[in-house]
Amino acid sequence: MMKKPLILKINPQEPEIKKIQIAADIIKKGGLVAFPTETVYGLGADALNSRAVLSLFEAKNRPLDNPPIIHVENMKQVQELVKKVTYEAKMVMSEFWPGPLTLVFKRSDIVPNTTTAGLSTIAVRMPQHKVALALISESNCPIAAPSANLAGRPSATSAEHVFADLNGRIDAIVDGGTTQIGVESTVLDMSVTPPQILRPGGVSFESLKNSLDDLELHPFVVTRKKLPIDKVRSPGMRHKHYAPNAEVIVVEGEVQMIVCKVTELLRHYRFMGKKVGVLATDETIGLYGTAYAKSLGSRSNLDSIAKNLFRLLRDFEIEGVETIIAEGVSAKGIGLAIMNRLRKASGYNIVKAE
Ligand code: AMP
Ligand code: MG
Repeated sequence: MMKKPLILKINPQEPEIKKIQIAADIIKKGGLVAFPTETVYGLGADALNSRAVLSLFEAKNRPLDNPPIIHVENMKQVQELVKKVTYEAKMVMSEFWPGPLTLVFKRSDIVPNTTTAGLSTIAVRMPQHKVALALISESNCPIAAPSANLAGRPSATSAEHVFADLNGRIDAIVDGGTTQIGVESTVLDMSVTPPQILRPGGVSFESLKNSLDDLELHPFVVTRKKLPIDKVRSPGMRHKHYAPNAEVIVVEGEVQMIVCKVTELLRHYRFMGKKVGVLATDETIGLYGTAYAKSLGSRSNLDSIAKNLFRLLRDFEIEGVETIIAEGVSAKGIGLAIMNRLRKASGYNIVKAE
């Protein structure tokens, strides 16, 4: 059993270099460091050190067939990790990097098999967070960093969430406060024609569509039910995801209909003796009674909903809620990522409100 992680409180705007160096030394020695990015917290290890990456999988209880995203700080690192950066990929990078967009390429030979889970491709991202960029730079290596939570659980958007899941399992947590976006990066596969979105995230389908004429959404991204395993294109699609220790039900449809259905379900589960929580919105929370409901944010500000989603799932869990009834929101813009996370968190336990 590892001891408590070293906690390094850091200024997210102007990271203190001394603290970055302490964290980077741990990475260089093959250790595990959780750090903030603009999306969620990542759990980092030297991507070129297969022993370190193996311990990363172990710390998260992550299935070995699900490779992490490799975080870079400059274009030279990308050139070294991938076979070829196409003109199209360069255009996308120049527009969205650094930022919440992960690109999948054919991998080069320098990447250990452990890091790519034996795949012929690699997922790469340049994050837009001063702490993340400084840590990669100071470590002087690309950093493999899946989300810093136990596999299958909601991602961590604060150092407290990281600690709750990974205390005793990792070496350090760089605490830069809560993360800005709150859902993970968009995963865009550039190794196929046309490019395909494998996971919706911080960069919307609509804005990518402006840069890429030909762009597909993988069916998994928009599905409302479990799809057969043979359709899987990204290993992450195969596994349970984002789920708190509570049953989650998602109610989708028009807002008024959602409120009626949620009210009905709330009554039903309370009658059954369950401790119930409602994930509501600013526009609807008053209709349920605040003893049960928490607001994700305003329906007219989906960014705020993305930012609060994982925290509220964890808050309900801490309060011992057994059943979480979540209102669906619009799947436009970042709403597509929100609905993808909610549906997966529920294990596709979706109720249509009509
Ligand atoms: P996380 O580690 O939680 O940030 O998730 C990383 C996501 O990227 C998972 O959904 C992975 O399955 C996906 N991913 C990583 N490497 C690849 C790859 N080579 N091809 C397709 N998806 C990948
Ligand atoms: Mg994850």
